[in-house]
Amino acid sequence: MTAISNRQLFFNHLGQTSQAPMGIEMLKAKGIYLYDINNKKYIDAISGFSVANIGHSNNEIITAIQQQAEQYMHLIVYGEFIQQPQVAYAKLLVDNLPKILNCVYFTNSGAEATEGAMKLAKRVTNRSKIIAFNHSYHGSTQGALSVMGSEYWRNAYRPLLPNVYHFNFNNENAINAIDENTACVILEIVQAEAGIIQPDSNWIKQIRKKCNENNVLLIADEIQSGFGRTGTLFAFEQFNIIPDILLLGKALGGGMPLGAFIADKKLMNALTNNPVLGHITTFGGHPVSCAAGKAAMEFLLKENLIHSIKEKEKILKQTLQHQKIKIVRTCGLWAAVEFDSFEINHAIIQKCIANGVITDWFLFADNCLRIAPPLIITTEELVMLCNIVKQSIDDVFK
Ligand code: PLP
Repeated sequence: MTAISNRQLFFNHLGQTSQAPMGIEMLKAKGIYLYDINNKKYIDAISGFSVANIGHSNNEIITAIQQQAEQYMHLIVYGEFIQQPQVAYAKLLVDNLPKILNCVYFTNSGAEATEGAMKLAKRVTNRSKIIAFNHSYHGSTQGALSVMGSEYWRNAYRPLLPNVYHFNFNNENAINAIDENTACVILEIVQAEAGIIQPDSNWIKQIRKKCNENNVLLIADEIQSGFGRTGTLFAFEQFNIIPDILLLGKALGGGMPLGAFIADKKLMNALTNNPVLGHITTFGGHPVSCAAGKAAMEFLLKENLIHSIKEKEKILKQTLQHQKIKIVRTCGLWAAVEFDSFEINHAIIQKCIANGVITDWFLFADNCLRIAPPLIITTEELVMLCNIVKQSIDDVFK
C-alpha cells in the first residue's frame, strides 16, 4: 500500500478556504529563511504575514517558551489567577505606550481583539453606531467582518452587525459622520490590505479631534503595522495621535497565538460590571504565548531593530526599481509593489516563489506584491530579495 502524502492529507482533511493555496510543505524556519522538505531555501519576504518580526525560531523566544512550558501552560480561564507571564508582558507593553494606554486585555487573535474593543466601545459610550473604512481588514469573525471594508466579503454572511457605516480612507465624509450617536471609529493607522495606504496627517488629526468633541472612542488597529514595521514601535506615533483603544496581534506573540486590546483602565473597567465577565476567553493571554511575545519584544528593543528601519526602507526603494513596476508604496520595511494587473502580479509571485522568495498579494490590492520581511534582515539580504523580485519580473516578461 502506498503511503498517502501530506499533500493529499492537506487537501483531503484540512478545511480549505483558498482555491490555490501555496501548498509548499515546509520543514523548518530560521531567521529570515524557510526550508521546504526538499531542502529548498526561501527568503520569507512576508514574515508569515507580519508575524515573524524578529525572524523565525529566535533562540531567546524558544528558551522563553521552553521555560514557561515546563513551569505551567494553561491553568484557568482569563483573568482569574495572577500569571507572571501575563503581568510581565502587560507591564512591558504599557511602559512603551502613552499613559492612557495602560491596561491590556489579552486575547487569542487579532479578530478577537477587534471584537473585544468594539464591545468595550459599546459599553463605555452606550451607543452602537460604528464608523469603519473601505479596504480595511480587522479579522474574520462576524463582528470584525461587519467592519471589514468590502461588501464582496461581507455579503454572503449577512445579516451582520447593524449601524456600521463605511467611508473611504482619507475622505472627509468620515469626519462629518462622527456624531453624538457614534460609539467608535475603527481604522488601521496604515491600511495594510489596501496595499499600504498611509493616512493624510491632517485628516487623521481631524478624526481624533471630532472623536474627542463627541466622546467617541478611536480604535486603532495596529495588528499588522505594530512592533516597529513602520519605523516606530507603533505607527500612530508618526501621526501625532493617540487612540483610545489599540489593537495588537500578529507579531505580539513572537510566533505564538496572541492578540490584545489596550485602553485606559477607567474604560476597561466597563467589562467588569453589569454584566460581569464582559469578555470571556479560555485561552486568551496563554502564558506560553505571553512569555514568547515578551521575549520577542525585549529582543526587538534590545537589538534596536527599529532604528534601522527607515534606512532599510530607503534601500528597498532604491533597489526595487523596474520599468514594469508602476509604484512601490512603502511605510518602513513594508511595501506594496504595484503592477498593471492581478494576472501579472500573480505570475511574478509564482516566479518569486520558484526563485526562492515567499511573497503574496494584498486582499484589496491584488495587483500589488507584498514585501514585509523580518526586521532582522540585513541590508545585503534585502538587496538580494529585491534582486530576486526583479529577476522574477524579467522571467515573466522575457
Ligand atoms: N487586523 C489586521 C490589520 C490584520 O491584518 C489582521 C490579520 O491579517 C487582523 C486584524 C486579524 O487578525 P487575526 O488573523 O489574528 O484574527
